[in-house]
Amino acid sequence: MPVSGLGPYDDQNIFARILRGEVPCRKVFEDAHALAFHDIAAQAPVHVLVIPKGRYVSFADFSARASEGEIAGFFRAVGEVARQLGLETAGYRLLANMGPDSGQEVPHFHVHLFAGRKLGRMLVAE
Ligand code: AMP
Repeated sequence: MPVSGLGPYDDQNIFARILRGEVPCRKVFEDAHALAFHDIAAQAPVHVLVIPKGRYVSFADFSARASEGEIAGFFRAVGEVARQLGLETAGYRLLANMGPDSGQEVPHFHVHLFAGRKLGRMLVAE
């Protein structure tokens, strides 16, 4: 059972549909553990989402249930995406929303990768 407050995994969520090839994406990277693609509503010059291939609703779910191989493979993929995009010198920001207070919209664990400009403060005041 998932451990986060997001409920059971929904196989119809948009990222599950992208993983199955039912919905197109602008793919950046893919390997056995992860898929990376451009966010449809980019909030920075580079805004890429990296998602694991397994059925995890959130970071809480992924960190509790994924195997060590899945966790290592996923985070190595995040680093590889940044390297392949040539972002290591200028830098980038990783962000993962988890649950209601974060505003997580899509119930499939994902990491946002932002880059391409000075990214400012980490949190914008409400
Ligand atoms: P979060 O609020 O952390 O759950 O982020 C979900 C992200 O998914 C948002 O930045 C959306 O713009 C993005 N998104 C939603 N649907 C798609 C899609 N079909 N392709 C690419 N990105 C998407």
